[in-house]
Amino acid sequence: MISLSDLPLRADLVGQEPYGAPQLEVPVVLNVNENPYPPSPAIRHEMAAAIVSAAGSLNRYPDREALGLRGDLAAYLGHGLAAENIWAANGSNEVMAHLLTAFGGPGRTVLTFTPTYSMYPEYARNTCTGYVTVPRNDDYTLDAKLVLDAITKHQPTVVLITTPNNPTGTTVDLDTIEAILEGSDVLLVVDEAYQEFSSGPSALELLERHPRLIVSRTMSKAFALAGGRVGYFAAAPAIVDACRIVRLPYHLSAQTQVIARVALAHSDEMLAQVRSLAAEARSFEDWARGRGYEVIDSQANFSLIGRFPDRHRVWQDLLDRGILIRETGPAGFLRVSAGTPEEMALLRSALDEIDPTLE
Ligand code: PMP
Repeated sequence: MISLSDLPLRADLVGQEPYGAPQLEVPVVLNVNENPYPPSPAIRHEMAAAIVSAAGSLNRYPDREALGLRGDLAAYLGHGLAAENIWAANGSNEVMAHLLTAFGGPGRTVLTFTPTYSMYPEYARNTCTGYVTVPRNDDYTLDAKLVLDAITKHQPTVVLITTPNNPTGTTVDLDTIEAILEGSDVLLVVDEAYQEFSSGPSALELLERHPRLIVSRTMSKAFALAGGRVGYFAAAPAIVDACRIVRLPYHLSAQTQVIARVALAHSDEMLAQVRSLAAEARSFEDWARGRGYEVIDSQANFSLIGRFPDRHRVWQDLLDRGILIRETGPAGFLRVSAGTPEEMALLRSALDEIDPTLE
């Protein structure tokens, strides 16, 4: 038997663990910001039929440019975008990896603002890009001065701003994003993975005026297609061309492309629960405030509540009751994804049962 330590693993990967939240079979899963509602039976049948049809040519490689899917994504986003403005890959994780492979690399830096999405340092590590992170304001917001000062100091090639931010749910307004674009010449990636849940406007509005802006989205959250693995961005065609250079050929399977296209053909139905999920999260936050918890102002389909003297114990006590949430974010906080009304009721009564103030 050979073990990892016998292998010529890259020096910077030695001792690293694979990323991932626990995947446990429990009745109430509220830990990875998924949409709790699966596609309807009618849409599932349509997906199955599309796969049967695509299987008729599974001996052939899929459309390497995924032009049909990219056209459908452009139509979904609107704002006068076309297929050549859109890049798609296996989740926005892969989209980000493409961006950092193309624009990062040795000697270059990507800048983010913590607390933020825990995968960003891993994309940077995998692409040998320097990773610098600067703390957000005390209320987890961002302002243009904070970002522009950090850009002057760290000279990044790529800046990543997440809005609504994971894990805080806080948003960054368009004036701030525009001021950052006007005050620097970085490539600015605005990660809007949770935008459909927010009541604020999208950075897509700024694309026409700002060719260094990249707006990233995913079908994993609002679109209820986490298992389908489709993420994408909208940007100038030249930025798409850079990603086309570094992607592996045929990276989006035929099945992935057809499933996503069926979902997009039924976007109203796939997105039908978005408002109710956002409302579920906001009403959970109201309840938590009423119980004396500290709650961060979120615009996403999740809530960050604290402060628990021993958050791991609370996480475990909930798990013992069949409820899986996420131990992430600032010290003492736990993150809860919005579930169905029944799931949220179970969570509320479980929280009332355990004493979260116990050390
Ligand atoms: N960006 C943010 C901010 C996220 O929270 C997530 C998922 N947790 C992603 C990107 C990646 O999503 P996916 O790869 O499923 O598209």
